[in-house]
Amino acid sequence: MLNKEIFIGYTFFHPEKVQRYTGADTIYSTRKGKSYILLHVDSLQKEKDILTIVTNNRHIIKKYDKPFLINSDRPMMNTKYRISKYLTSVFCELPIDIETRNKYFLRIRQLLLDKLVVIENRLKKQEKNRQTTTYIKFSHSRRTWYLGFYIPCSFCSDVCAYVMSRNRKVCQNCRSKMIITPTPLPQNVFKDFSKVKQVISKRVGVSYTKKVLMDGGARKYAVTYSNLQINKQFKTSKEQERYKKGLKTASRVIKINGRSQIMELDQRYLFPNIS
Ligand SMILES: [Zn+2]
Repeated sequence: MLNKEIFIGYTFFHPEKVQRYTGADTIYSTRKGKSYILLHVDSLQKEKDILTIVTNNRHIIKKYDKPFLINSDRPMMNTKYRISKYLTSVFCELPIDIETRNKYFLRIRQLLLDKLVVIENRLKKQEKNRQTTTYIKFSHSRRTWYLGFYIPCSFCSDVCAYVMSRNRKVCQNCRSKMIITPTPLPQNVFKDFSKVKQVISKRVGVSYTKKVLMDGGARKYAVTYSNLQINKQFKTSKEQERYKKGLKTASRVIKINGRSQIMELDQRYLFPNIS
């Protein structure tokens, strides 16, 4: 059987203008010797005879301005073989010595193979908003290269820093267009808003603590009434019982944003979107 030939072509991407370069989005950064060199995922398809490598590294593009041919020593080019060729080509152009190349080659190739599996699994999954980065980080001599897979953004084809379940592939600038599955609100998201107030009502004869908690992310408030104490003198126990019963059923009406909210003592209420 004839050995196959395969081309390797480099494509230059102007660095994306994004708002943040933190977390997974560090891939977009070109500061401090950072750049990405990513293999187009389509290059992994069996029928493709070109490996397309996408980079925002100008030095590499200068060297590889047109596609070049490499001879394959095997008739079939599987994923591992394609990733090997990608990595070999990339390593040849990085300012690293041959010992370093040999030292890291197998390790990085395995990380890339593992990464590909994790990406495929993440895209197939249905639940939650978990994310998987599309790259691994390789640092050497104060330079950092992000090696991995170019997965085009479904909206604009820019580089995706990560992929999400339900086949979501979105770059940083298009994330607002993405459908986010709301995760159930955890019970303890409310942070202390430091608004604790001791309320004393001489007229009703009670005192209680009013506490306002805030969930900044969801812009929700929780108001808690606690420590109810009755500060009233009763002539008879019957009067006291009657008073307590009345207090239990009594409601307090408070106004929030002009809307009346019925409050009961010793209970917690949530108010969405109070500004
Ligand atoms: Zn996009």
